[in-house]
Amino acid sequence: MFDKPLDQWPELNNFNERAVIQQLEAYSAEGAIPCECRECMLDVIALSLNSLPSRYAVSLLQKFYETPGEERTFRAEIKAAVDRAAAKVRLQPHH
Ligand SMILES: [Zn+2]
Repeated sequence: MFDKPLDQWPELNNFNERAVIQQLEAYSAEGAIPCECRECMLDVIALSLNSLPSRYAVSLLQKFYETPGEERTFRAEIKAAVDRAAAKVRLQPHH
């Protein structure tokens, strides 16, 4: 019987979600985010994730890249998605 609520699967992790938030934290440390209110941050995260492929894993230890070159490509993909999302939110903030 499948009776577990949808929020009861903590092992299921979206690898890209953590990577997008890490990128936002880096931008925040650089003072590179025009508005850090919760609405703007959530909009940037959601827009970024909608433009990226799904990368779910059941372990936080799983990596989606093997070599340093693959990691650079992955980080560049995340950064580009966050940059595009931040530019959109900057133009049309919902706060
Ligand atoms: Zn804002």
